[in-house]
Amino acid sequence: MSKRLSGKKIAKEIYGSIKEDIELNKITPKLVILLIGNDPAAEYYVQNLEKKGSKIGIKVETIILNVSIDQQSLLKKINTLNNDVQVNAVMLQKPLPSHINESEIVMQIDPGKDVDAFHPLNMGNLVLDREGFIPCTPAAVLELLKYYEIETNGKHIVIVGRSDIVGKPLANLLLRKSNLGNATITVCHSRTKDLTFHTKQADILIAAIGKPLFIKADMVSENAIVIDVGVNQIEDAKKGYRYVGDVDYEACFEKVSAITPVPGGIGTITTAMLLNNVLLAYKMQNKN
Ligand code: NDP
Repeated sequence: MSKRLSGKKIAKEIYGSIKEDIELNKITPKLVILLIGNDPAAEYYVQNLEKKGSKIGIKVETIILNVSIDQQSLLKKINTLNNDVQVNAVMLQKPLPSHINESEIVMQIDPGKDVDAFHPLNMGNLVLDREGFIPCTPAAVLELLKYYEIETNGKHIVIVGRSDIVGKPLANLLLRKSNLGNATITVCHSRTKDLTFHTKQADILIAAIGKPLFIKADMVSENAIVIDVGVNQIEDAKKGYRYVGDVDYEACFEKVSAITPVPGGIGTITTAMLLNNVLLAYKMQNKN
């Protein structure tokens, strides 16, 4: 295992396998993204998804909605997409305007088209280890563990962050009685006392905090494997801005046994896992 756990090769392999499957079965899975308003980062992300999708045979269509759209109109829009048999997957891109009730919207998306896996049915299936979608960032972490043959069985995995989209599902996945599970999990959050005590215990430390360079070298143990989920934009004297993770990569690199970079780590695999979920949605809807 190399010390720098790049996600690029992994993403390439996943795209390759999706493309092969699509060509072999002569299918065109379709994802519709609802994008509200004109947030530059969100626009960039969906354009990237469109490009990546078109390269591998997945049609990605973005519907841009006015930022003033009301809750009822948005629910109606989702209902139309739920009933459209040509649409295999529906995704609501964040950020959402403050007047939108996110949890009601999440409930409205057909769980069979919910490739983000935010619907309680999909979350429930995940916790109970049943077939269904796995949210793409936790899925990306599992792909990384698999690719680099990182043993989780009996290991102590410390996750910093308990969000519904990263920390919580990841903790449940790594608890599973399976090859990429069987770990002992500690989940930390903003109310955790003596965070360093916990992070230093980790055989595998996963950071999903949303605070740039938060995890410093004195918070990790030697021989730890560090997986950085964070993506934070910070000012850069030369380029204006750049992206860094939640872990101080430079400071931790020498100390730990392996670490994912940002960019080029988990985020790279996450997009591939989302498109993989679109293919999965197509297959679940066309089982016969
Ligand atoms: P959230 O803001 O939803 O959750 C952050 C978590 O970090 C919370 O549980 C919070 O605790 C915890 N936290 C915040 N401050 C501290 C602290 N000082 N000490 C300990 N815990 C703390 O973020 P997300 O889970 O959505 O995202 C986390 C990071 O991952 C972000 O950088 C985001 O950009 C990135 N991300 C990357 C993706 C990828 O594909 N690579 C995809 C999704 C997210 P509490 O619950 O108590 O508030």
